[in-house]
Amino acid sequence: MTAPVAIDDAHSLLTVLVAAYNEADALPLLHPEIVAALAEVHALYGIAGRVLYVDDGSRDGTWNVLQEIQASDPSVALLRLSRNFGKEIAMTAGLDQITRGGVVILDADGQDPPSLIPSFVAKWLEGYDDVFGTRVERDGEIWLKKASANAFYRIIGRLADTPIPADTGDFRLLSERAVGALTQLRERNRFMKGLFGWVGYQRVSVPYSRVPRSAGSSKFNFGGLWNLAVDGITSFSIAPLRIATYTGIFASLFAFLGMAVVIIRALLHGDPVAGWPSMMVVILFIGGVQLLALGVIGEYVGRMYNESKQRPLYLVEQQQPAALDAKN
Ligand code: UDP
Ligand code: MG
Repeated sequence: MTAPVAIDDAHSLLTVLVAAYNEADALPLLHPEIVAALAEVHALYGIAGRVLYVDDGSRDGTWNVLQEIQASDPSVALLRLSRNFGKEIAMTAGLDQITRGGVVILDADGQDPPSLIPSFVAKWLEGYDDVFGTRVERDGEIWLKKASANAFYRIIGRLADTPIPADTGDFRLLSERAVGALTQLRERNRFMKGLFGWVGYQRVSVPYSRVPRSAGSSKFNFGGLWNLAVDGITSFSIAPLRIATYTGIFASLFAFLGMAVVIIRALLHGDPVAGWPSMMVVILFIGGVQLLALGVIGEYVGRMYNESKQRPLYLVEQQQPAALDAKN
């Protein structure tokens, strides 16, 4: 039994936000599930629902499919970006449109089950600002992806200054003030999982098992995931720079010791030409460490360069309706 909850203005509207890139096959399967979930939310709590689809520059029939969905459902709004900007930016573009009520972020492929939305809403009404789904199982994904995802969450959990819960994707319900806070973060390297954590506020996790994709194929290849991981770590931690520093200190100490050994040995025994191999080893080692450290610094400098260009995060190609929430 749920206690009757007073629905205030910030809890009177719920928007489901879906970023879609080449999802023409998956969207017709997904939409009815979202509609059913929103109907349940409406029946339970009297909260109005709507859906915002962001077409992230798809090259298949996604935009047409979305227009068909919208034609038969007035609660659907559409946003189309000028090209493929990537999921993190597509989500941001959607969030920028929404200034009223809560938002559920959902993958287009049905891997984040819309049927969980009512239980997210229950937590939201308890006062939580960030209700996130935590995967307890990942069906239909190869072990390499599971293992690397696992390793990534452990590493970033150690390194990052903001809390990034393990096995938690973008599937979540954000309150109005959490969305407002997120849209103020305009950095170009957007690692959303970290940004969600940065916002703080009250968070709670809802466990669920991740089902296989309903249709189509994953849009992230291994290279893409690697880049996302590097973005995530460099956006939320300067630990790699510190590790470079410590490696440098360690290597210099080692070199000093080596130097002492060489000098003492030369004084005691004289030094006929010898030591070429050890010298090469030392030179190569130091050279390698230096290049590595430079590379790490380069990662950060490159990101500063990207930020300093101050380009807009994305460009909108088309929008229906023209303005979702009237901005003031
Ligand atoms: N996506 C996007 N832009 C992209 C890549 C992906 O909007 O450039 C969307 C995609 O349509 C899906 C979600 O992000 O709704 C997650 O993508 P995917 O299922 O391919 O990732 P995975 O579940 O394999 O991590
Ligand atoms: Mg997926």
